Amino acid sequence: MKKGIAASKGYAIGNVIIKEDEELVINETLVEDIECEKGKLKEALELAKAQLSKIKEKALKDMGPEKAAVFDSHIMLLDDPEFTGAMEMEIENSKINALKAVDSVSKTFLMIFESMEDEYMRERAADIKDVSNRIMLNVAGKMVGVEVENENTIVVANDLTPSDTAQLDKNKVVAFLTNIGGRTSHSAIMARTLEIPAVVGLNSITTSVNNGDLVIVDGIEGTVIVNPDEVTLNEYKAKRESFLKEQEELKKLIEVKTTTKSGKRIEVCGNIGKPEDVHKVLDNGGDGIGLFRTEFLYMDRDSAPTEDEQFESYKYVLEKMEGKQVVIRTLDIGGDKTLPYLPLPEEMNPFLGYRAIRLCLDRKEIFKVQLRALLRASIYGNLAVMFPMISGLQEFEEAREVAEECKAELKKEGKVYSENIQWGIMVEIPAAAVCADELAKHVDFFSIGTNDLIQYTLAADRMSEKVSYLYNPMHPAVLRLIKMTIDGAHKEGKWVGMCGEMAGDETAIPTLTEMGLDEFSMSASSILKAKQLIIEQN
Ligand code: PEP
Ligand code: MG
Repeated sequence: MKKGIAASKGYAIGNVIIKEDEELVINETLVEDIECEKGKLKEALELAKAQLSKIKEKALKDMGPEKAAVFDSHIMLLDDPEFTGAMEMEIENSKINALKAVDSVSKTFLMIFESMEDEYMRERAADIKDVSNRIMLNVAGKMVGVEVENENTIVVANDLTPSDTAQLDKNKVVAFLTNIGGRTSHSAIMARTLEIPAVVGLNSITTSVNNGDLVIVDGIEGTVIVNPDEVTLNEYKAKRESFLKEQEELKKLIEVKTTTKSGKRIEVCGNIGKPEDVHKVLDNGGDGIGLFRTEFLYMDRDSAPTEDEQFESYKYVLEKMEGKQVVIRTLDIGGDKTLPYLPLPEEMNPFLGYRAIRLCLDRKEIFKVQLRALLRASIYGNLAVMFPMISGLQEFEEAREVAEECKAELKKEGKVYSENIQWGIMVEIPAAAVCADELAKHVDFFSIGTNDLIQYTLAADRMSEKVSYLYNPMHPAVLRLIKMTIDGAHKEGKWVGMCGEMAGDETAIPTLTEMGLDEFSMSASSILKAKQLIIEQN
């Protein structure tokens, strides 16, 4: 039995597929059999075409024609004689291996496109990079992304990026396991959104299993059993049944309003990453959206979403929630969330570096697109906007100023927005928690981001399985900071929510309720259990 960190609850039994690391070693070798190298290239191109056609189909279904069009341009690149034709020529002329030929042609193209004046053309460099990478992985016989053929598949990887996780086909993938990561790494959070069991931080799971192995995943205990015997298999089949039965039982609470025994009404909301996730929150009886991680709108694409695209996404969520409160967080990129088209500086400590509000205040042209979209969407429901990673009042005020600038612009353009938006901050840096009483005078609400608050308070990287034993939500220092935040807000008559994973932690919910938390926001799959626990509370 292997022990890791339980990242998403539930039980799964299925067969392993290992996602190899995509790192490529590209050496130049002189080759004699030129035809053989040309053959490798041809095969890789054909495979790339087949892969991209499939991805395009999925994108068309999931995201509509506009987004899917990106893949048309990728497919066209594969047929471009100046691009892929040049790779073949390179093999012939320089008598080098296919991998190196693809690498050097793509580098030449990248250099040309990246130095172009025209922004649109510069953005095409991302397409070239993406396609070249795909061709090279195919030449090297490595797996691109996570493509799964069979049902009941358990994906095993060193790590999964948030976008890898978002792309998993839930009809086939029943669980995933990774060597690295912690409960609050973003792939773990995505697993909970997708409602598939996951165990992370298993250290060496990629080398402990083989493709095709039968494994049991226990997402509650954080354990994995490889090639189980009949008795164990039956034991876990029974566990899975009773888990599913309990989930069914909890459905009775969908319509029930959450009130403690002493009569305090508490909002139990859902966290979402994509607009379509609202349905899961509603299906699970969520009172609202307590955190929309908008950075997921920016992922899996090769340029930032436009103002209109973002507007449509926010409008969709607000309309679907029919007047229930929707807290949308502005872009929180950096840390473990990166974008291919927004290169960030290499930093020793990205979680302490150039991320979230710091990046947005520095790159106002990016920030303003989002704020304008949010303002325009605000008339379609009950919107609250919050800024991530606020360390002090100045950042909040600067962010509010940018929002006011956007309002003025929209007014000039004759575009409408609501005057009833609430403006709040995430309390996820200890400094903000300590100064909560002061900050509360200026904001409309707080939402405590424990995923980061815990890592900064205890100096324990949320991504590191090695120090996960220190990452303790119930540490007295963490609890004191939470209490300070709640009391600070209440003194000024403001409400406090929590949208970090601790809000859905069954062992923490009674304490948090007692401390006076007004709103809990969590993965949709945890909402009903949280409701049950709060209702039982005094
Ligand atoms: C948090 O830090 O608790 C939080 C909700 O933000 P994220 O997990 O996206 O960093
Ligand atoms: Mg955070």
